[in-house]
Amino acid sequence: MSVTSFNQIRVSSAALRHNYRLLQQRAGNGVRVLAMVKADAYGHGMEEAARVFASTGCNDFGVAEIGEAVRLRSSGIIGNIFVFLGFRPEESGLFFEYDITPIIYDLENGAALSREALRRGQEIVVHLKVDCGMGRLGLLPEEVDAFLAALQQFPGIVVGGILSHFPMADEHESQHSVEQFSRFAGVVTKAGKELSLVRHIANSGGVLYFPHTCCDMVRAGISLYGYYPDGRAGREREKGEKLQPAMSFVTRVLQVRTVPAGTGISYGYTYTTERETRLAVLPVGYEDGLSRSLSNRGEVLIRGKRAAIRGRICMNLCIVDISEIEGVQSGDEVVILGHQGDDCISGDEIAERMNSISYEVLCLFGNNNERTYKE
Ligand SMILES: *Cc1c(COP(=O)(O)O)cnc(C)c1O
Repeated sequence: MSVTSFNQIRVSSAALRHNYRLLQQRAGNGVRVLAMVKADAYGHGMEEAARVFASTGCNDFGVAEIGEAVRLRSSGIIGNIFVFLGFRPEESGLFFEYDITPIIYDLENGAALSREALRRGQEIVVHLKVDCGMGRLGLLPEEVDAFLAALQQFPGIVVGGILSHFPMADEHESQHSVEQFSRFAGVVTKAGKELSLVRHIANSGGVLYFPHTCCDMVRAGISLYGYYPDGRAGREREKGEKLQPAMSFVTRVLQVRTVPAGTGISYGYTYTTERETRLAVLPVGYEDGLSRSLSNRGEVLIRGKRAAIRGRICMNLCIVDISEIEGVQSGDEVVILGHQGDDCISGDEIAERMNSISYEVLCLFGNNNERTYKE
């Protein structure tokens, strides 16, 4: 018999599929929609999520490191797999062995891949990362020509694509992305004269708020998992079909207790009851991704009603106030993220209470708990 945890992540494959189709529609026919499945698919499970996207027509996948790419390829994914963070020179062979596409931004990467290509008598397709205003990884636009010329010295390297990344595409009214896109377009026009390059820059914000930036391919992350990059505001602004959150997080009541007025609750007594109070103890804590910053701030759903977290969240436990909820018993289902009855706690709501973004909430919950998948 397999023993499962009290805490369960449920992922809806139907929601993932819905979101992929919606993104494909928004990006336009003929535009490739790369599924970003880094960070274990933002907590949804890399192999499982990739399989759902593949069955929905996805042929391009993105991860951060080569180790993830090897794991994804070994799970049976047959499309293109891109590694976005670079690699150590001694790992170059893995790109050939597993047919993975490297993103390169310095000549050391290029040289290492070229040596490996010569040794194997093979060629490798690479994509070039240009920093047009992210202030992070990449070549500066003015360095691209010299870099491409230098790459000619390296046999076996085929430049197949060029990309950049938006730092502010979640700000739908900002001119920043528009300006950055024209810088990118300038680089591409120049560099692409002889080469036929796959151009990509748009993340979720790009596709949703700046659709003219979709180019040949887009790289969608958070939207595929059902969230808008600018959180609740994005969902509220949406006039068409909405993205559907794919993840929910449930646990159960461990113990129900009634304590008198003046009882200090949990480590440090950061909450003291003002009157006789009914509490439910839950087997979930910061080890399970329920951030300690939600102490005395977060809420959960029990019997379709909201129960406030009282006192500090512990490593494996937290305490909620059920004084206003009738009939709660140990074993009752508790929803931390998702729907119960007529109410719903969204990743955006939790993120706001943590002063963070849905991305982090999904990673914290999804990557620290058992996951199950359903249609
Ligand atoms: C994570 C990532 C994306 C996806 O961003 P979302 O905002 O989640 O859509 C796209 N491109 C790169 C390079 C990334 O690292």
